[in-house]
Amino acid sequence: MADHDVDLFVIGAGSGGVRAARIASSYGARVMIAEEYRVGGTCVIRGCVPKKLLVYASRFSDDFEDAAGYGWTVAEPEFHWPTLIANKDREIARLEAAYTGTLERFGVALVKSRAALEDAHTVRLATGARVRAETILISTGAWPHLGPKIPGIEHAITSNEAFHLAQLPKRIVVQGGGYIAVEFACIFAGLGSDVTLVYRGENILRGFDDDVREHLRNEMRGRGITVTCGHTVAAIEKSGDEFKVRLSDSGVIAADKVMFAIGRRPNVMGLGLESLQMKIHGHGGIDVDEYSRSSVPNIYAVGDVTNRVNLTPVAIREGHAFADTVYGGKPTPVDHTNVPTAVFSEPEVGVIGLTEQQARERLSIVDVYKTSFRPMKATLSGRNTRSFMKLLVDGVTDRVVGCHIVGPDAGELIQIIGVAVRMGATKADFDATMAVHPTVAEELVTMREKAMSYGRAVAE
Ligand SMILES: Cc1cc2nc3c(=O)[nH]c(=O)nc-3n(C[C@H](O)[C@H](O)[C@H](O)COP(=O)(O)OP(=O)(O)OC[C@H]3O[C@@H](n4cnc5c(N)ncnc54)[C@H](O)[C@@H]3O)c2cc1C
Repeated sequence: MADHDVDLFVIGAGSGGVRAARIASSYGARVMIAEEYRVGGTCVIRGCVPKKLLVYASRFSDDFEDAAGYGWTVAEPEFHWPTLIANKDREIARLEAAYTGTLERFGVALVKSRAALEDAHTVRLATGARVRAETILISTGAWPHLGPKIPGIEHAITSNEAFHLAQLPKRIVVQGGGYIAVEFACIFAGLGSDVTLVYRGENILRGFDDDVREHLRNEMRGRGITVTCGHTVAAIEKSGDEFKVRLSDSGVIAADKVMFAIGRRPNVMGLGLESLQMKIHGHGGIDVDEYSRSSVPNIYAVGDVTNRVNLTPVAIREGHAFADTVYGGKPTPVDHTNVPTAVFSEPEVGVIGLTEQQARERLSIVDVYKTSFRPMKATLSGRNTRSFMKLLVDGVTDRVVGCHIVGPDAGELIQIIGVAVRMGATKADFDATMAVHPTVAEELVTMREKAMSYGRAVAE
């Protein structure tokens, strides 16, 4: 390969790119990685990590309130947004340095530059320098999408800017119904902002189980968040220090900030893919096979740029599998089914497997178990909140095919339930597992009464 400067050139040092570069290098490949912004990518710099730190911050308000019922007297708490943001920025800088250090330790050459393809083996850097690579991995992630251009759209922020606001907005309108919109609505509400969530669809969290969507919407409303479905933001007018947000139903909301979280688009623009005639699929991502190989044989793509399952652990797994396949002699396809996932709303959501609707479409008999209850902690605190749990069971094999939780620590719970579901645990296995008492999670192994059974009459 004498005419190649490197064996592998990775474009984008985010979750997928960093993992792929590190593992490929550990197999002996000569690897170079280009990053145009900050090492760590969306997750570390302006996604999962800073968001979770803000989620933690936002939950203290409930804790202060709840403490009273348990006998505590807490002085009127005060929140200082600049302190939170400065501390968060320090932690992100620490993580960025750790990621950079990892690349160095593994002998990966890092170039802080935008990169694009000149041809299937040539990468052009922003400086004009060219690097010849035998194999190229595109891991450029995705970018917030602002939707059709509406008047005043230039006033809207996205999640990128939300992490760097100079002050906490007293009133904020968040447009969107996906997990990022829902999480930020809960973060701002927990920190004390007056929040309106505007979503064009019928209900928030499209793609999630309908009971979960309904339960969370009610909980959010119970916490004072105005959830307006069936409408969109039609225009944003600046009026002095505030914005007038005009909705499609002609309602007007006054706000200090307007945030759009209506979706993200794969970062494929300006990469030079058109000249290579690389196949882009209907959802705008790079079309790849199960080994993340694109339609150009020496070019691979992992993570959000492929628009498969847009989550950090998935990007990491795809990056690792790519390196195992191409450099480790272990062809490794990635299984995108049964991916556990969480929404860090308040209360939290954790899900794995099929929704009720999907189960009914795919299985001949579906048994539904569900329960809604007041968590024990809410008794003395007096908080008006309920938890929700649902198990979907294949009525023929008894396998648990879906688990949906709305309640405290749902993200933590679903990680562990994910192992059981992937292993093919049956409802009988759940029932045979002794409860841990008193916990919220014990409900998962004590649900005995079927709420519904679809298809059973036909089968019997
Ligand atoms: C607000 C928010 C919250 C999220 N929360 C979660 C969560 O809780 N859990 C979860 O699992 N996922 C979460 N995600 C999704 C997660 O961040 C992504 O799925 C993950 O980061 C994708 O990794 P990636 O490697 O595909 O891309 P990224 O991590 O986005 O990395 C792509 C990198 O490529 C760089 N780049 C782009 N183009 C070029 C170029 N031409 N040249 C050089 N560099 C380039 C970018 O600057 C970036 O650093 C969240 C996302 C957002 C926005």
